[in-house]
Amino acid sequence: MSPFSRRSFLGVLPLGFLGWKWGHAHSLSIPQDKNNEQAKEIKIKKYNPLGNTGLKVSDVSFGAISLFDSNVIRYAYDLGVNYFDTAESYLRMQSEKFVGEALGDVRSKVIITTKHSFPPQFKDQFKKERIIQRVENSLSRLQTDYIDIAMIHNISDLSLLENQELQAAYSQLKEQGKIRFTGFSTHNPKLTLKQALTSDFPQVILVIYNHLEGPEIEDLIAQVRKKGIGVVAMKVFAGGKQGNLKALVNARQSYPQAAIRWVLKNPNVDCCIVTMSSYSHVEEYVAVSGQALRPEDLKIISAYQKAASREYCRVSCSACLSACPSGVAINDVLRMAMYFEDYRLESEAIRYYAQLDDSQKPISCATCPGYCQQACPYQLAVKDKLLKAHSLLQA
Ligand code: SF4
Ligand code: SF4
Repeated sequence: MSPFSRRSFLGVLPLGFLGWKWGHAHSLSIPQDKNNEQAKEIKIKKYNPLGNTGLKVSDVSFGAISLFDSNVIRYAYDLGVNYFDTAESYLRMQSEKFVGEALGDVRSKVIITTKHSFPPQFKDQFKKERIIQRVENSLSRLQTDYIDIAMIHNISDLSLLENQELQAAYSQLKEQGKIRFTGFSTHNPKLTLKQALTSDFPQVILVIYNHLEGPEIEDLIAQVRKKGIGVVAMKVFAGGKQGNLKALVNARQSYPQAAIRWVLKNPNVDCCIVTMSSYSHVEEYVAVSGQALRPEDLKIISAYQKAASREYCRVSCSACLSACPSGVAINDVLRMAMYFEDYRLESEAIRYYAQLDDSQKPISCATCPGYCQQACPYQLAVKDKLLKAHSLLQA
């Protein structure tokens, strides 16, 4: 176990537990082990330009998908993190509230991204006023009057952006100064990054990028970055299976730190967001800021790859989809299972799964020979994984 994951925070009582209101919490410093010199040195050491936006972002930045205490966000800010990524859908809007609570009084010093989903199957039902209202609701939860980067969440095909209502809404919000820059997040970079090269909409992109599925898209990342689009990497832990892999459970070195260094070695990645759910996460990840990839990182990454390669469904891969006669959304279902099993976001995963159409769920897999499995270049036991995912995720 890494020194950071072993770190004891017994002195850190959740402020909510103590019944303190946020106004009090801001006047408090987060309790830390004052004798720990290592902890005192942990600070963001590198800020990078975010594409052509003129903004400079901490290389290690904050992902707020899994969080139970806004003080953790504030602690990251105190250590120099200045880029915070949230979404309307995270924690049923609670994540945006946490970000607003934590950063309201330092708003001008931080960069906030939030994201809104527009499922393509409903694109004929998009309405400009409704979209504007959703963004304004986010502003209110975030306790701010502008969003630095407003992203379309989890987009697979930029043809969605041709929707007139969507375009009109985002143009109006930009003209009103409620949005500074626009962008999108994607799990389908091979298509969407190519499309981004000829679209004016994305000024910042949030893209899956890690040591298991990054190398294939590095050329595209370089091209969008050359165009001036900011590149933020997500899912940098390649599935985050380290807690479930025997080969890594007792590793002396931190796999997450190695995985972050691997991502940040790419000069076309402006920053990466990592989920920081606790004070120990904040310290463990921020400690990596400004550091180069080390030979020992490659060793632990190699151990992870060996152990996880046949377990991890590459989120950006879709090689098996055309082999399925039933139209199951295989990579989406396995991504949701990853949220459930590896990220421990059980209720979020169940909620996302409920949003899939029944025809996209692996309901007919039990009686199928498993064509998807034969098509998987990474030799995953796809059919079994889908059946397990369905039993975990159905409400
Ligand atoms: S096992 Fe399921 S996902 Fe795979 S090909 Fe058959 S129906 Fe499609
Ligand atoms: S199951 Fe295999 S082929 Fe299908 S998306 Fe995942 S990694 Fe790609």
